Amino acid sequence: MGLHPSLHERPPLHERPPLSIGLDIGGTKIAAGVVNSLGDVVERVPELPCPASDQEAVLRTVSGLVAELLARHTGITAIGVGAAGLVDWPEGRIRTAPNNAYRDVPIRRLLEDFTGLPTVVDNDANAACWAEYRLGHRAAYMLFITVGTGVGGGLILDDHLFRGRTGIGMEIGHMIVDPHGTQRCGCGNIGCLETLASGPALGRYGSTAAATDPAGLLSTLAGGPARVTGETVSAAALTGDPVACAQLERLGRWLGIGIATLVNLFDIELVVVGGGVARAGDPLLKPIRRSFEHFVTARSHRELPEIEPARLGPEAGWMGAALLALDDNEHGALCGRGAAVT
Ligand SMILES: [Zn+2]
Repeated sequence: MGLHPSLHERPPLHERPPLSIGLDIGGTKIAAGVVNSLGDVVERVPELPCPASDQEAVLRTVSGLVAELLARHTGITAIGVGAAGLVDWPEGRIRTAPNNAYRDVPIRRLLEDFTGLPTVVDNDANAACWAEYRLGHRAAYMLFITVGTGVGGGLILDDHLFRGRTGIGMEIGHMIVDPHGTQRCGCGNIGCLETLASGPALGRYGSTAAATDPAGLLSTLAGGPARVTGETVSAAALTGDPVACAQLERLGRWLGIGIATLVNLFDIELVVVGGGVARAGDPLLKPIRRSFEHFVTARSHRELPEIEPARLGPEAGWMGAALLALDDNEHGALCGRGAAVT
């Protein structure tokens, strides 16, 4: 009897860690699964195609996945969504996305109404950044840059995910690095990093190079210079093909310029490079490091950050979203809904 609970009324020491559902809604597919707060994968759902041109169909697919996972797992305490596009934080409203026909979707509110569970919705690159930080590389000042169909990323500052005023900051791919260039970005500008350093840019460089060398490996692998893609260049580079390696060198130079600018601004401790193109490994990472070291300011008066490959691969998006939901749930009151782990 008394005001304080007796020992045997306390929760067991080895209580199961809480679970969270994570979803990654991209332009072409939706990935999902369940993790616990330690980052252990409890279930991963096979990827589904994303009906990107039909907002209602996307929401039906998402709610169907969530309902299935809730039915299969007890102990789910939160839901996290990583979505391609501009996502307001903390409202979790998708303003727009380059490859989805959204009309200002309040997806966080819709999921909270549907499930009654606390939900967070963030940009997919932010979610992947959080997964790399929580489960791959723990650095208090970490830049994550993803190189694939576009160039994106996230930034950890003082162990917090940086989002800017409304959540739409860190559009790394739209840093202007070459305003006198000729390639127009999907955003309408000229000179965005994404137009010079993404998978499609690599394909463009490879295609041009193959046109002057039609009997070379790039053209042979692709079935003609015009059919060379970023994947063709990466595959050829893995065999040591010098023409392919020269194209990755070109890509790496631009990425190094972008990274040097961000390191100059934010005094970053670790740079993590992910995304499909980064799977090329050293043929991309080495030129990134060379270019970065050339362009970073005061290089002989500072400790240069390591530039390392991502550890988690394509699952980082949904896993990071799930972890963000748990971390935000736990720490939100202290951190103004900004996730932080100490
Ligand atoms: Zn742009």
